[in-house]
Amino acid sequence: MEAQAIPLFAASHSGTTTVGPVILLGAPGAGKGTQAKRIAEYYGIPQISTGDILRENIRLGTELGKAASSLMERGELVSDDLVCQMVARRVAAPDCALGMILDGFPRTVNQAEWLDKHLAEYHFFETERGRKRPVVVQLVVEYNQLLRRLTGRRTCPACGRIYNVFTTPPNADGVCDVDGVTLVTRKDDREEVIAERLKNYEAQTLPLVSYYSGQKLLTVVDGAGDPDEITAEAFKAIEHGDRL
Ligand code: ADP
Repeated sequence: MEAQAIPLFAASHSGTTTVGPVILLGAPGAGKGTQAKRIAEYYGIPQISTGDILRENIRLGTELGKAASSLMERGELVSDDLVCQMVARRVAAPDCALGMILDGFPRTVNQAEWLDKHLAEYHFFETERGRKRPVVVQLVVEYNQLLRRLTGRRTCPACGRIYNVFTTPPNADGVCDVDGVTLVTRKDDREEVIAERLKNYEAQTLPLVSYYSGQKLLTVVDGAGDPDEITAEAFKAIEHGDRL
């Protein structure tokens, strides 16, 4: 894939880097969004969720949104080219200078290779002691639990809070505890679409496990346990993240 013509932020990435890029890997429903928010808040770095950015583009009716919407509704992946361009634009923003957490990206080996090249080419996370390596955290959750999480998921369209009708229901049926807005089910959380997403995850995203473990960047975390313990494990992986 061609390198993207984006502004160079090398200078702002030098010297002041805190944590480098954190990549969250996991099936749909593994808890990437929940953990990404906690990590983002703790380290003061932005959460870059490609799914959220794509949904926002659909809401705004952009060209990207138009290209992505039917694919997403079917549970298929958006093309690597479109997603990489979108990520290139997002990570060029100054708020990514001290680190970033990537949630839902990369999702194919092609995207991972692009990301490696992009971070190197634009001198992301270079410090006087070398370049910070990405920290990759894989959240592992078994298939039936993923199904339960996804079919039960409800989201508040106003504040983004996520509930689950089986495990973490709102106080009053169908409305957000925070702002009383009616909760919605994501279009791709219908059962037949969920099966497609999980199938695509296995075929297209799971190969990233060997891609990153081959580079000794991968930490595997049991995503079925207590959310606070999962966060603690993720923090540990980030703190011990190595340098090139
Ligand atoms: P989930 O991981 O729970 O399926 P996301 O919100 O991360 O949900 O993504 C929703 C959809 O957006 C995906 O099914 C896919 O169609 C699209 N998408 C998100 N990230 C990527 C990506 N990196 N590459 C291709 N498509 C993506």
